[in-house]
Amino acid sequence: MTVLFPLRTQSSQGIRALNKPITILWLIGQYYHNRKTEFTFNEVEPILSDIIKDFTGAPNIVDPFWRLKNDGILSFPNENKIRINKSGGVSIVDLREYGIAGFSNDFLKYIQNYENLVLYCETILDTYFAGSMEEEILFRVALDYRSSGDKTVAIKRRKRDPKFRELVATAYNYQCAICGFHLMLGGSSIANEAAHIKWHSYRGPDTVSNGLLLCNLHHKLFDRGVFTFSKEYKMNLSDKVSSHSEGFKRWLIEYNEKPLLLPRKTDWVPSEDYLQWHRMNVYLG
Ligand SMILES: [Zn+2]
Repeated sequence: MTVLFPLRTQSSQGIRALNKPITILWLIGQYYHNRKTEFTFNEVEPILSDIIKDFTGAPNIVDPFWRLKNDGILSFPNENKIRINKSGGVSIVDLREYGIAGFSNDFLKYIQNYENLVLYCETILDTYFAGSMEEEILFRVALDYRSSGDKTVAIKRRKRDPKFRELVATAYNYQCAICGFHLMLGGSSIANEAAHIKWHSYRGPDTVSNGLLLCNLHHKLFDRGVFTFSKEYKMNLSDKVSSHSEGFKRWLIEYNEKPLLLPRKTDWVPSEDYLQWHRMNVYLG
């Protein structure tokens, strides 16, 4: 089935291209719960900036809001009062003054069908987000039933490839490549996950050299760009995170600048290409 209204994002830039997908999911969440079809920039700005900042480290709400017009999703009734610059962008001043936007008729017609709405949200998740982020993003945009208290919300998280998980788990001897965590319960390993270094949503392959076995905590933080790895496989912790907690020291500071626990076979070690993608596109710096 073809999904209508694909988003035009500027480049395949991991975490930094998430502004628009987060914006559209949030708008759909508002429509789903409150049947809201029109939004002023002033009401959207503080809430969405917070969510976007939490996921990408650098909030830019002007561009994603305005540029949803180019995807046929939003239309701006006061468009003629908004000054457009050479690169097609607009100023925050104009959006604060004239930025009222409504879903375009076509898009509204499309998401009024509940199956389309679900399919659209699932496609956005699949196309842009790392698997470990899906639960949290749905929670933040009120599209899961935990946050909305509405059991009818049925946006599903993607099914993982069990073969990839097994290959990576074996290569890493069922231990987190950072902290060495390993736990068996009734013959199966729990709480460790196969992370894609280059995200699946950006065509990162299901190969061991694009994988890392990480415990739940390290997986989530790796996908959020809290740390990355150098060419020498040493952890670089971002300056953008801080905490006074003992856990921060124990689970992150402790491993900073330390090498990964790599698999024995050279074919299995992370490929520099994928690590470089992570450093450029996900790492918060
Ligand atoms: Zn770990």
